[in-house]
Formats: sequence, C-alpha cells, structure tokens
Amino acid sequence: MTARIIDGKAIAAELRGKVAAETRRLAARGIVPGLAVVMVGNDPASEVYVRNKSKAVIEAGMRSFDHRLPAMVTEAELLAVVQRLNRDAAVHGILVQMPLPRGIDAAKVIAAVDPAKDVDGFHPLNVGKLAAGWPGPVPCTPLGCVLLAKTVHASLAGLEAVVIGRSNIVGKPLAQLLLRENATVTIAHSKTRDLPAVCRRADLLVAAIGRAEMIRSAWIKHGATVIDVGVNRVAGKGGKTRLVGDVAFAEVSEVAGAITPVPGGVGPMTIACLLANTLSAAGGSLSSVVCLQLFQP
Ligand code: NAP
Repeated sequence: MTARIIDGKAIAAELRGKVAAETRRLAARGIVPGLAVVMVGNDPASEVYVRNKSKAVIEAGMRSFDHRLPAMVTEAELLAVVQRLNRDAAVHGILVQMPLPRGIDAAKVIAAVDPAKDVDGFHPLNVGKLAAGWPGPVPCTPLGCVLLAKTVHASLAGLEAVVIGRSNIVGKPLAQLLLRENATVTIAHSKTRDLPAVCRRADLLVAAIGRAEMIRSAWIKHGATVIDVGVNRVAGKGGKTRLVGDVAFAEVSEVAGAITPVPGGVGPMTIACLLANTLSAAGGSLSSVVCLQLFQP
C-alpha cells in the first residue's frame, strides 16, 4: 500500500481563501481584523515563524502589528505591552511568541492576555472552555491536525485515536478536540509502556514528540491515518540541514492509508488556523466550530 499524501499546503490555502473572503465581508462593515504578534529576543526559528505569520495576516486582508522586544526586556515591561494591546481596539488577536527568555514567567504572560483576544487558545479560561466542550478559541496546531484528519475521514466518531505527546500546545488540546469529535482517545508520552503496541491500535495516529523519524512502519496499523506534527532539523547532504518529522515518512507511507509530509503538512495549517481564530476574534463567522465543518471528504 502507498499512502495518500495529505497536502497540508493546499488545504491550508483553501482555508486561507475562505478566511480572506470572510475578512473582506467584515471589512465592508468597517471592521478590519488585527493580529498583534509579540516577540522577545531574536531566536532564529521564531523570527521565521513571526515573519511568515505577518505575511499571511497581510495576505488575508488583515492588519498586522509586530512588537519586537529585546531579550533583556523585563517581565513587567512585557506585561505592560500585553496590557496595552488588550486595550487597543484595532487589535483583535494577540500572540506572544514562545519560548520566552529565562526570567520571564510564560504562564503569567499567557494569563495576562485578554481571553477574548487569545488567538493561541492558551489562556487558562480558554483551556477550560475546550475541556468543558464550550465554544472558544482552540489552539491552532491541534485544530489544524483535526482539519487535516477530517479531509480523510468524514467522521472521526469511534476511531481509535492515539496522540503521542502531552504538551499544553499540541498533545493535550488535540486530545480534547478529538474527544469532542467522538474519537476514542489515548494520550501517550515518554513514560508510556510499549509505545509501538499502543500505536498499532490507532486508526488515527498523531505524533507530536520532537524526535526525528522515531515512528517506524512496524508501529502502524495497516491503512491508518498518520498526522506528523514534529519538526526536526537533521544533517542533510553536503553539510546542509533538512527538516523531518517524528515519523519515518518513506517506510510508514508503505503501510499507512494517508499521511502528512514534513514540511507541507501540519505547519501551513497552523498559520491558516491562526488567521481563522483572528477573524473569529474580530467577529467573523469562521470560528473553530465552523472550520471543523468545512473540511469533509
Ligand atoms: P514538547 O513540549 O517537547 O512535548 C513533547 C512530548 O513528547 C512530551 O509530552 C513528551 O513526553 C513526549 N515524548 C518525548 N519523547 C518521547 C518518547 N521517546 N516516547 C514518547 N513520547 C515522548 O513538544 P511540543 O511543543 O508538543 O512539540 C512537539 C513537536 O511538534 C516538536 O517537534 C515541535 O517542533 C513540533 N511543533 C510543530 C508545530 C507546527 O506547526 N508544525 C507546532 C507546534 C509544535 P513527556 O511529557 O513524558 O516528557
């Protein structure tokens, strides 16, 4: 069997097109959605993410407000910037790029963001809403993963879903979303016993680990859908580096029914979902719930 490649780039482009169309409708009513991205320091990977996010925001017809703060900024100064953005009516979404430098309490900063502008869905109030099954912003990467899975499965109800990773950013919210979709969810992590056996149960396997090509073909149920969140930089040819996921793509493709590539899978969906969350925060009708209904095979 050779797996169908789930084209995250194309699916993300479709979602971005829908966001741009809804943004135009909102702008005609005098509301231009605005996203503020706050970045502290100059971590090269974060620089690339922030640049790509700002470009996508502008392409969607939204306003982008970038705030670059020096690595030496104090926690109080950063919190003051967040408070100012909370009060700014032109800013509908606020994203504080992680990781933050040592000495700044990330939890304090996340909690300082107005929950209505929390397009990352990391604020404790929004984490609680997701757990309770209430509407609210849903973290972008997990939302993107579910949207990709729904391009393969008309319904995720009753599927055995295994999520490897339990971070607050990906694993935990993804498990909540899959539960909301009526999948039977297992969360695996570094202390899970016999991980290959747990993975072999999965109709839907999501890897969010951060370990290059750890998931092997012998771990995959025949025909399973595999979503690879991992982004790992490894040595390539001629002294260069290349990106790989947490899944050994070539060999797993021989067993899986559908699989996301890295790059070109989950990554583009994360940005598209951020745009959808910003639009929703500005009053547009493309909420996470609506997004989840859009992508059916
Ligand atoms: P994280 O906070 O480091 O969490 C990694 C998770 O993997 C932890 O729960 C850890 O378990 C688990 N784990 C580590 N080693 C394991 C092992 N040998 N067996 C089983 N589980 C293991 O990472 P994250 O922020 O969730 O990100 C995960 C990956 O996704 C990274 O590669 C990151 O770059 C990528 N990512 C991509 C996007 C995107 O848009 N494409 C967005 C976010 C993240 P413990 O909890 O037991 O330590």
